[in-house]
Amino acid sequence: MSPLKTILRSARSRVTQVLGPRRLARLAAAGDAPIPVLFYHRVADTHPNDWTISSRDFERQIDFLRHSFEVIGLDEVQRRVRERDSRRPAVAITFDDGYAENCDFALPLLLRHGLPCTYFVALDHIESGRPFPHDAAAGIPLPINTAAELRDLANAGIEIGLHTRSHIDFSQPHGPAEIEREITTATPELSAILGRPVRHFAFPYGLPQQLGKAAIRAVAAAGLDGFCSAFGAYNVPGRDAFHIRRVHGDPDFARFRNWVQFDRRKLRHEPTIHYDLPRQHPSAATR
Ligand SMILES: [Zn+2]
Repeated sequence: MSPLKTILRSARSRVTQVLGPRRLARLAAAGDAPIPVLFYHRVADTHPNDWTISSRDFERQIDFLRHSFEVIGLDEVQRRVRERDSRRPAVAITFDDGYAENCDFALPLLLRHGLPCTYFVALDHIESGRPFPHDAAAGIPLPINTAAELRDLANAGIEIGLHTRSHIDFSQPHGPAEIEREITTATPELSAILGRPVRHFAFPYGLPQQLGKAAIRAVAAAGLDGFCSAFGAYNVPGRDAFHIRRVHGDPDFARFRNWVQFDRRKLRHEPTIHYDLPRQHPSAATR
C-alpha cells in the first residue's frame, strides 16, 4: 500500500471509530440499530489461507465484541429486524463449512463466554469425512467435523445449520433435482443426525448470484427459518427478516471494527435480493 493510501486509511479508520459508535447509539435509541452477523470459516494457527483467522486474532475480535456489543443468536436478530426493536448495539456470530479445528479453540472460547453461535455444515462432508475439493487441490486436505462432534456442540448450545448437502455453487446451472437434494432432503437428514430440528440455512459462497428464487423458496418450504447470504451487508430493522445478511469476520482488525461499529457508507452499495415466500409463510406478511 502506498504511504498516502496508508495515511488516508488510518485517518478514515479513526473517523469511523468515533462516528460509528455515535451513529449506532443514535439509531439504537430509535430501535433501528443495524445488526452485523459475522461469518467465519476456520480458526487455526497452521496452514493459514484466505478463510483462516489465527486463534489470537479471533480471541481479540471476540473480546472486542463481548465488551462493546450484545452477542445474540440468529432468532433474536430476526425478531429485532421483524419488530423493528433493535435498541442496543448487537452482533451475531456464525461459521461456515464445519472445519474440525474449530473445536480446538474457537468454539470452546465462545461456549466459555456463553456466546451464541450458528455453525453451518455441508451434510455430505460431515457424513463422509471427505475434505473440501478446494482444500484437497491445494494439497492441504483440512479435516471436517464428525457427526458426533456436531451432536456434542449442539448439546453444549451451538446451533447447527445447513450449508447444503455438497457445498453446491448455485450460481452454476442447476435444476429442481439439485435443489431438492441440496436443501429439501438434506434438511431432515441433518436434523436426524443431530436429533433436533435444523432451523437455519446458509448459501455456499452467499453472493447475489447464488441466491436464486427457487432455492430460497425451497429453504422456506423445508421449514427453515431463514437463509444467510455472505456478500457483506447489515440487518436493518424493519426490512425482510427471512434473509439474514452477513459480514466477513475479517482478520484485519481495523476493517472488522469498521464493519461492526457501523459504517453507513456500506448501506449505499448493498445489492437487493429479490425473492418471494409462499403466501402462508409466517415471514411473507412482514416483507
Ligand atoms: Zn461454505
